[in-house]
Amino acid sequence: MTELRELYQEVILDHNKRPRNYGGVSECGSRAEGYNPLCGDRVSVGVSLADGVISDVRFEGAGCAISQASASTMTEALKGKGLDEARQICEEFHELVTSNSGTVDHLDESLMAFEGVREFPIRIKCATLPWHTFLAALAEPNAEVTTED
Ligand code: ZN
Repeated sequence: MTELRELYQEVILDHNKRPRNYGGVSECGSRAEGYNPLCGDRVSVGVSLADGVISDVRFEGAGCAISQASASTMTEALKGKGLDEARQICEEFHELVTSNSGTVDHLDESLMAFEGVREFPIRIKCATLPWHTFLAALAEPNAEVTTED
């Protein structure tokens, strides 16, 4: 498990230092906001679709390193994917971080790194928050997020 632990720390550090697809959520076709009260993580996810393909997926947020790194790796994994494939990846990521069955083994390396989250149950919601938020944005493609301003 040493290798996995190192990969996990490397991915978390790298994506916190250089978050991918950060910003520009308001310019995306559909958006959703996610909040994890257990840790105080907030993440907004924006998705743009073109011909059933995710042409863009972006995030903004503030929270712990795991939630932000998870959002960043998620956007990289989902960009350019078809909707069915994207939903499949969401399911597999969820299984990866919650189940001990070890059946998920073919996700991108940066996603596989989150397998280490299983060792810290309180962190599982941090890791899955961006993914739930992404699915919420897909579920209501025309939903407008209301903000105070
Ligand atoms: Zn968190």
